[in-house]
Amino acid sequence: MPSLIFRKGLDLKNAVAGMLAENYHSTIVDRIKADDFTYHTGRLTIHLAREFGFCYGVDRAVDYAYQTRERFPYRAVYLTGEIIHNPHVNEKLRSMGIRFLSDEAGSVDRLGPDDVVILPAFGVTVAQLQQLDSRGCTLIDTTCGSVLNVWKNVRRYADNGHTAIIHGKVWHEETQATASHAVSYGGKYLVVLDHREASAVCDYIRRGGDRDAFLNHFANAVSPGFDPDRDLQHIGLANQTTMLMSESLEIGDMFQAAMREKYGDSDLANRYQAFDTICTATQDRQDAVVALLKDKSIDVMIVIGGYNSSNTCNLARICAASRPTFHIADPDCLVSPHEVRHRPAGSKQEVTATGWLPPSGDVVVGLTSGASTPDNLVGAAIAKIEAFCN
Ligand code: SF4
Repeated sequence: MPSLIFRKGLDLKNAVAGMLAENYHSTIVDRIKADDFTYHTGRLTIHLAREFGFCYGVDRAVDYAYQTRERFPYRAVYLTGEIIHNPHVNEKLRSMGIRFLSDEAGSVDRLGPDDVVILPAFGVTVAQLQQLDSRGCTLIDTTCGSVLNVWKNVRRYADNGHTAIIHGKVWHEETQATASHAVSYGGKYLVVLDHREASAVCDYIRRGGDRDAFLNHFANAVSPGFDPDRDLQHIGLANQTTMLMSESLEIGDMFQAAMREKYGDSDLANRYQAFDTICTATQDRQDAVVALLKDKSIDVMIVIGGYNSSNTCNLARICAASRPTFHIADPDCLVSPHEVRHRPAGSKQEVTATGWLPPSGDVVVGLTSGASTPDNLVGAAIAKIEAFCN
């Protein structure tokens, strides 16, 4: 029996609104927003970025997960994996009895028509969806509209015979899902992580090169049977929605220049396609933190969000370029006025730093959070910093 799929919630928005507010709302954050995003107390001034925290896609996904629990109190409810990249929110869902298929090997094969499965905001691959569909369970699809837009364009590339060049993280669920859409439409893809990898591919487009070395380097980042000599002749640019916008734009320009150089202006429109797939929420959060750093004399930046949250890591990268920056997963990482646990921008490991907060005199702290970070964590971090300072 095919699955029943809910894509627009379960008509229980009002029923769960109180629970969501209780779990994720922060009075202090609301007060600071109303007060021009600034908070003064004693020697401490905190400036919040003008856009931070839950984006529309995450807000909707978490809302639908709560509605699902409410609608099916006596049925087994599963998530395919993390609904969003925030440990606090995922733990909250576990505490509500929602189980994670990623925790239990072979669990998809045991699903049946009585089971309910929630698909995350960043989507699942075509193969995962087919597998879940074949079990006949009820599916609650929370895939964000901005991610669906990327998939639509990648499928268009496949239809036109263009290889999708995806600026993204090959291990990220969203990029894997996007790549799977290219393949499901008979297309090809290549994932580039950053400026360095994009530059290597552009060199290959211009001059060719060592095909085996190319395939070796991108072994996990290309579609099956990828041939760089054949599959880089017509390309279309796409990106994971949460990448650094400035880098995505630069990478798009690099590929356009390489194709122009190789095939000439007259054939460019036939050889190269692009569209902007950074979502507006990601762009707004990046713009807001750039403005904050430009407009205020910030001594220390705190960025709050899961270490595996791509958009949070990119906010930290922006801040770290000009200020002492501490990307913390949780307010508990603010251990004391002397000690903080954080993940330095570009690193894969949490470290402990000392002397992060000036011990005396006025201090100005800038604060932002990723699109999967609820306001209550921002509020808790503010309370800690205030207690440390005063
Ligand atoms: S970061 Fe953007 S694409 Fe991802 S869930 Fe939020 S709004 Fe959607």
